[in-house]
Amino acid sequence: MSGAGTAGARLDAVRRGMDAAGAAVAVFGLSSNMRYLIGFSDEPGERMLLLLVPRSGDAEIVVPELYADQVESTSPPAAIHVWTDGEDPGALLKEVAGGLDRDGGRILLDDSLWSAFALLVQDAFPGRSFGLASTVMAPLRARKDESEIAALKRAGGIADRAYLEVTGEPVSGLTETQLAGRLEAAMVEGGADAIAFETLVASGPNSALPHYRAGSRTIRPGDVVILDYGCRVDGYCSDISRTIVCGPPSDEVMRVHAAVRSAHLAARDRVVLGVRAEEVDAAARDVLTDAGYGDRFVHRTGHGVGLDVHEPPYIVGGNEQRLERGMAFSIEPGAYFAGEFGVRIEDVVVVGGSGAVPMTEVPHELKEVR
Ligand code: ZN
Ligand code: ZN
Repeated sequence: MSGAGTAGARLDAVRRGMDAAGAAVAVFGLSSNMRYLIGFSDEPGERMLLLLVPRSGDAEIVVPELYADQVESTSPPAAIHVWTDGEDPGALLKEVAGGLDRDGGRILLDDSLWSAFALLVQDAFPGRSFGLASTVMAPLRARKDESEIAALKRAGGIADRAYLEVTGEPVSGLTETQLAGRLEAAMVEGGADAIAFETLVASGPNSALPHYRAGSRTIRPGDVVILDYGCRVDGYCSDISRTIVCGPPSDEVMRVHAAVRSAHLAARDRVVLGVRAEEVDAAARDVLTDAGYGDRFVHRTGHGVGLDVHEPPYIVGGNEQRLERGMAFSIEPGAYFAGEFGVRIEDVVVVGGSGAVPMTEVPHELKEVR
């Protein structure tokens, strides 16, 4: 999905968006936006590496010498300016900025750009007004193309297989961290490039904490356990949650699970081209409210997924954004009972011509494990 052709087309799309937004130059740091645009990125660090995209004319990359070969090997459609450790990258940035569009338009900054670099960019474009690059990037990245959807699907398939593998073995007696490690190892063995985010294994009362990660608690018979995890393939993330139970579940756990599952399916059924994001959230919320668990569903229904695990569109009350073909997001209703247990069921879906296409497919059932 990288390559000069893709990068050229994506940079052109950014330029069209900048034109509509009245922006003169968009500046990106090491980020998922940079990866989306030129097929290269890395963890952000203290060395300044910036991609500058003017509304018209060639893009420019200011790169520390130790990255120069890696950046060049992706053949970005941009001029490369190299600085060496010990030199002042701010001076080089000023020089490059001085040669770009001087019409006085706004400068867009990558939303995650470190403040240290944002201040250097402000110095390099004196007197300009500044905005966020997400105004241009979010609409582009929200609609996935075929190669992006294929990567999401591969990442989902690896997560599916990890689930079947790990829950096919006894989990009672393992710590949460050990079970998380098994899921992660299964995904790497299964062909993942990396883990998408820190794996969440929440057992017993910990499952009532929606953002609990994993700890030293030992999983015991009778525990409800939420697994929430994912991996990366070609940069694209999977994100799945399943709720399992160690031994036979109580009637209450079965009732709550059935309600969460209905809520999930109601939201999935609501995914149709042109529907507003908030309507998908409402579909899940209405089911849980009718079941008497409305106040237990303490988070939004979902978030976009792509090169970032959390990105637009957000499936949340108040978001009137309309669903478009190729949008990818999670559906993850849950219900949480403090001190007792929680249930969540999550799949990432892609909006297709005839509704939601799930990227993970293992059954939602309350799986009884040993
Ligand atoms: Zn998740
Ligand atoms: Zn999620």
